[in-house]
Amino acid sequence: RRVIGASSGNNEWKRGECECVRANACECVRARGLERRRARADQKKAQIAGMAACDDARVSCIHGRMSTNASTTSTTISTFHPGLFDGSTVAITGGGTGIGLVTAKRFAELGANVSICGRRADVLADAKRAIEEAARAAGFKRDVVVASADVKKPDELAAWRDQTLAKFGGLDVLVCNAGANFLAPAASISPNGFATVVGTVLLGTWNTIHAWYPHLSERAPTSKNGASIVMNAATNGYTASPLMAHSGAGKAGMINLTQTLAVEWAPSRIRVNSIAPGPVDTEGANARLWSDPEVRARVTKTVPLARMGTSEDCAGCIVFLCTPAASFITGTVVTVDGGNFLKPMPALLG
Ligand code: NAD
Repeated sequence: RRVIGASSGNNEWKRGECECVRANACECVRARGLERRRARADQKKAQIAGMAACDDARVSCIHGRMSTNASTTSTTISTFHPGLFDGSTVAITGGGTGIGLVTAKRFAELGANVSICGRRADVLADAKRAIEEAARAAGFKRDVVVASADVKKPDELAAWRDQTLAKFGGLDVLVCNAGANFLAPAASISPNGFATVVGTVLLGTWNTIHAWYPHLSERAPTSKNGASIVMNAATNGYTASPLMAHSGAGKAGMINLTQTLAVEWAPSRIRVNSIAPGPVDTEGANARLWSDPEVRARVTKTVPLARMGTSEDCAGCIVFLCTPAASFITGTVVTVDGGNFLKPMPALLG
């Protein structure tokens, strides 16, 4: 048999373009199908091999594509579907550093439009580049919105919201991540110091949610997956919080707010959840809370999983809470602390 065009070796063959006995089941058509099946099988094999290599190398791996992440001490293999957030928009407060920045990158890699706010223009500019690069590496060309906005200032949050909506047209996910903290015995925390921390952690979260609620409540009832709000609380909102009375009070308020808003806003298809991290290795927390190596070692020792958390640990949980897989989860606080806050009878365990 002579196949016309076979020498081009491309996908241009069409039924009947070859001179064969039975035009409708000609070999060129069969050959094309076989070629495609082989290519798909090879692709799958390469993906599985990539993931296994990734696991061995203990590096972060997104959809089988390897990427090194020096700050990651645990293996992370994304289980999220590529492009899961393509067409969605995510806004994150305090998205220029630490957990907020890593969360922004993870959403961008999954195809989301991302908007972040913070207070320092230079930090935000660096973050914008890093998030856009993360998106590009995953195959998405994304323009990240950054805005200088202090969560204590409602007018600045309103300007950030308007800038985001002008660019992307709508919001699907809001992550209230900005936080402040410092170590001090309760008796020496001034009213001003207390107001600054609670004003950022709790009131700042309230200001942020309040700025976005009118838009979310209008959009979520008819959008594909409704809307999702995730707050970054902390385990010191469950327990006593020695040397961080202000932070503990603020985080406890966030946990209660999570439950209240989840109930009030469920009819609008707005889900409201929190994560409660334990000790997490970020530059900000390292400087504020455990700059002394001895303190850091003591803190690590109290974690049953025997390590500090990473921003990746927290980001993965935040992303999960915003996926359709979590569509029946609202009003929940997910603890991300390696078992730290449970402290199971330490005296018996030695
Ligand atoms: P971080 O310092 O990198 O993050 C805090 C971010 O909030 C920074 O980008 C900062 O610029 C921003 N921010 C602070 N005040 C702001 C304000 N008034 N307006 C706007 N942005 C403001 O530290 P991180 O460890 O990534 O913390 C992120 C969140 O995680 C915080 O809410 C923190 O309380 C929470 N958290 C952290 C840990 C931990 O151990 N690292 C544990 C539990 C909870």
